[in-house]
This record gives sequence, structure tokens and C-alpha cells, in this order.
Amino acid sequence: MAGTRTSTEQTVLQKFYRDYLNGSHILHYHNVLDAFGHLSFRHPLNPNIFIMSRNAAPATISSPNDLIEYYVEDSKPVDPNAAAGFLERHIHSECYKRYPGVRSVIHSHSEAVVPYTFSGVPLRACYHMAGFLGLEVPVWDIEDAQRPGDISDLLVRNVHLGSSLANSFAGSKQDGNDLPQHTVVLMRGHGFTVLAGNMEECVMRAVYTQKNAMIQTTALMTRAADLQTDKASKAIKYLSQKEVDDTTWSIPQSAHRPWKLWLREVEACNLYVNSA
Ligand SMILES: [Zn+2]
Repeated sequence: MAGTRTSTEQTVLQKFYRDYLNGSHILHYHNVLDAFGHLSFRHPLNPNIFIMSRNAAPATISSPNDLIEYYVEDSKPVDPNAAAGFLERHIHSECYKRYPGVRSVIHSHSEAVVPYTFSGVPLRACYHMAGFLGLEVPVWDIEDAQRPGDISDLLVRNVHLGSSLANSFAGSKQDGNDLPQHTVVLMRGHGFTVLAGNMEECVMRAVYTQKNAMIQTTALMTRAADLQTDKASKAIKYLSQKEVDDTTWSIPQSAHRPWKLWLREVEACNLYVNSA
């Protein structure tokens, strides 16, 4: 992938490759990704290109040779002879296309989150680590975006499905925003997609989206059990608008702390190899 880059450019890229491999391993370690799902990042030197791994389980990728450059415009590989890529890479390309400030995207099938994609129970920001979820997390229903001839396997297989998903994050450059209104969108019967301005923050948001879902499920079950015995049980109290705003500002300032811990966890686990 190096081409004719200068040594400075190659040094910059090498750090992104290393972070990408670490990020993929961290997401697997925390069960946000299993054999499926993927992380990507916008090329730091060319905003019209994004990078993600070849079609492989994220835990098993180990080298920059596993990574492929794609054009944001149409999700085609820069190298026509590149290895096979992920079918759902249109999720990533369409989000990069619509939101110039997005520099990393994660798509997950987290089993903790999936119940909130089809049950009608809205996912809500429950605690300070997940204020980035905002007051509302949209649910995108692929059925609404399908056209005659599309396969109904819930996968984002083409540009128009990816574009529809990207639109559901709302907000755009036309509105004066490089970043979307929402950071996370749930995908009915499938999983979720999360966007961020850098890879570390995207990984952090994905992990804490899953933790928030687990906490909310526990709270709903606790409340249901309490209602059996105490009909006057208090309502669940989610984060307010001000709490959402203030935690979204403050929590990322400590992003280095979980990243360093998660890095040590994957370095200490011999399942993962990172040669970048
Ligand atoms: Zn998927």
C-alpha cells in the first residue's frame, strides 16, 4: 500500500495502521465485534479514501497487508487487484461521503444492543459514560430503504442502502456541520453503526454503547421485578439534555485512560498479533 510516499507520510500512516489493528482487537476483546462487524478510518493524507481490513474476522488481522484502501465515492478498491473486502463497506463509504468531519466508523452486531433495534424499546443514555448517545438514538429500518430487486437479508449491500443509513444520522455540511447530529444509529434486526472524528473515540463510543445497552437492560429488568411488589415504584430517570451535553464534552478528555488499558489487555492476550 505504500506506493511512493515520503518517509514522514509513511510514519503517519504506520501509526494509523497500528491503531486500526489495535482497535479491531480491542473491539473483539470487548465482544463488540465477533467474526462479523468492522472498523474503518478515513485516510489521514487523502480524505477521498478510507481504509479497512480485508474480509476477515477482526481478531485475526495482524498486519498492514490485511488492510485495503477504498474510494469514498463508490467503495471501489484503489488497487483493483486487492483481496476481497467486506460486503457492507457501503456503510462506511456513505458516512464518510455525507459527513466530512467523520474520520472513523464502526459497524457492530452486538448482542447486547440488537434487542433495542427491533423491540420498540428505545435505547437511552443511562449513565455518564454514554452521554454521546444524546436524548434519542434513531432506529434505521432497512425495509424502508429497499428497492425492487434488493436482497432482503438485512445487509447493507449497495450505495442506496448505505446512503439511507448515513442520512439517518441527520445533519450535514449544508446545515453548517461536518459531523452528524447523532453519533449512533441502530439498525433494525441487525446491529448498530457509530461515527466519530477519530479512531480512539469511535472505539470508545462503540464499547460504551454496548455497556449502556447492558445497563439499560438490567435497569428495565430490575424495575419490572420491583413493579411486581411496589406499584408506586419510581420511573426510570435517563440523562437530561444538559447532562448529555456536559458529559459529551467532558468524558472524551479522559479517552486516553481506557485506550491504554484496553491496549494492554490485547497485548497481554496471545490471540492478537499486531506487526504494524
Ligand atoms: Zn452487519
